[in-house]
Amino acid sequence: MKKLTVLGSTGSIGVSTLEIVAAHPDRFEVVALTAGRNLDLLVQQISAFRPKLVSVLDNDLAAALKKMLPPGPVPEIMAGVDGLIGAAIHPDTEMVVAAIVGAAGLLPTASAIRAGKDIALANKETLVTAGHLFMEEVAKAGVKLYPVDSEHSAVFQSIEGHRSEDIEKIILTASGGPFLNTPLEQLKKVTVADALNHPNWSMGRKITIDSASMMNKGLEVIEARWLFDVDPVKIDVNIHPQSIIHSMVEYVDGCVIAQLGTPDMKAPIAYALSYPERVSTGVKPLDLTQLSALTFFKPDLEKFRCLQLAYDAMAAGESMPAVMNAANEVAVEAFLNGKIPFLGISELIVRTMDSHTAHQLSSIEEVLSVDAWGRAKACELLPTL
Ligand code: NAD
Ligand code: MG
Repeated sequence: MKKLTVLGSTGSIGVSTLEIVAAHPDRFEVVALTAGRNLDLLVQQISAFRPKLVSVLDNDLAAALKKMLPPGPVPEIMAGVDGLIGAAIHPDTEMVVAAIVGAAGLLPTASAIRAGKDIALANKETLVTAGHLFMEEVAKAGVKLYPVDSEHSAVFQSIEGHRSEDIEKIILTASGGPFLNTPLEQLKKVTVADALNHPNWSMGRKITIDSASMMNKGLEVIEARWLFDVDPVKIDVNIHPQSIIHSMVEYVDGCVIAQLGTPDMKAPIAYALSYPERVSTGVKPLDLTQLSALTFFKPDLEKFRCLQLAYDAMAAGESMPAVMNAANEVAVEAFLNGKIPFLGISELIVRTMDSHTAHQLSSIEEVLSVDAWGRAKACELLPTL
C-alpha cells in the first residue's frame, strides 16, 4: 500500500492521479490533498478518499470548506503555504505527487524531499527554476524522483538499464500545439480560445498556453537537463504532431529507444506511482494500424520564440531560467486575462530577461527571491508592451 499526498488534487494532473488511485484501492491510499479554490470538487474528493489532511489556498476558503464537509471522519484542514507544506511532510505520506502549477510548487516539493518523501513530479517549474538545488536535495535525502511529464516519463522508460555515458542524444517530441500551422503573421491576432484549443492533450490552462507558445517544450528541455543530468547540447526537440512517440533516447551505437502510447497523462502518472511495476490505467490501447503516419520535423524557432528563449536562459544559466519562468507566469496570466496579445508573451519575457544579470543561486530561498524579482519586473514592464 503506497500512501500519497496529492498537491493540486483538483487540477488536471491531480484528478487523473486520483482516478488511478480509485482504480487500485489495494495499492494506493490518500493521506493528504491540497486544492486552490475548487471547494466543490475537493469535497467530492474528501468523501471518496477520506484524507487525514486537506489544505486550500487561504483561511477564508478553509472556513468555507469546514461548513461543506461531507458526513464521516473530519480531516484536519489547513491553508496557504503552511498547508501545502503540512500536506507535503505529513508523517504518514510516502510519496508526494507534485501537481501544483508554477513556482508555487517549489517550497512544498523541497519540504517533501527534505522530509524523505519520494516525489512524482509533474510541476516542471520546480526543476526549471532550481534544478541543480533540487537534484542535490534529492541525492542528499536519498529519495526517488519520478517524472510525470509524459516526455520525461518516456525518456525515463527508454533509459532504464543503460549507462548515462552511452547516451548520444535525448529527443523530446512536441505536438506543436494549436498554432503549428498558423503563420507568424497570424499569431498576432489569435485569441485566448484559439490558444486553449490544444489538438492532442487536455490540460490545465497555464500549460495549455505554454504548449501554444512552445514555452512548455522549453521548460521541458531544462527539466530534462536536470532530471537526466545531460549536457543541454544533447537535448533535441522534434515536432511530432501525432503525439504517439512521447520521446526517445539515441545511444552511441546508433540505436534509438522510444516510448509510444495513446496521449493520456494517466499512463505516465501511473508509472510514477507504481514504478517499477505497471498497473492498468484504462488508457486506450495504441492501434498502430489506425495511424496513417508518424511525422517529425524541426521547430521554427522564429515563430516559437519562447522555445529559443528557454535555450537562451539555459545557456545564461544560474538565475536566468527562474527569471524567465517568473516572467512567463506573469505573461501567461496577462494573456489569459486579455491584457496582452499572444505574441506579447515572448516579448514580455525578453524584456524581463534583458533587465536581469544572471547570478548564482545557492538556496531555495534565493530562488524564491529571484522568482519574486522576476514577477515584479515583468509586472512593471507589462504597460510597456
Ligand atoms: P491545473 O491548473 O489543472 O491544476 C493546478 C492545481 O494546483 C489545482 O489543483 C490548483 O488549485 C492548484 N494550485 C494552483 N496554484 C496554486 C497555488 N498557488 N497554491 C496552491 N495550489 C495551487 O494544472 P495541471 O495541468 O494539472 O498542471 C499541474 C502541473 O503539472 C504544472 O506544473 C504543469 O506544467 C505540469 N504538467 C501538466 C500536464 C497535464 O497534462 N496537465 C502534463 C505535464 C506536466
Ligand atoms: Mg510534457
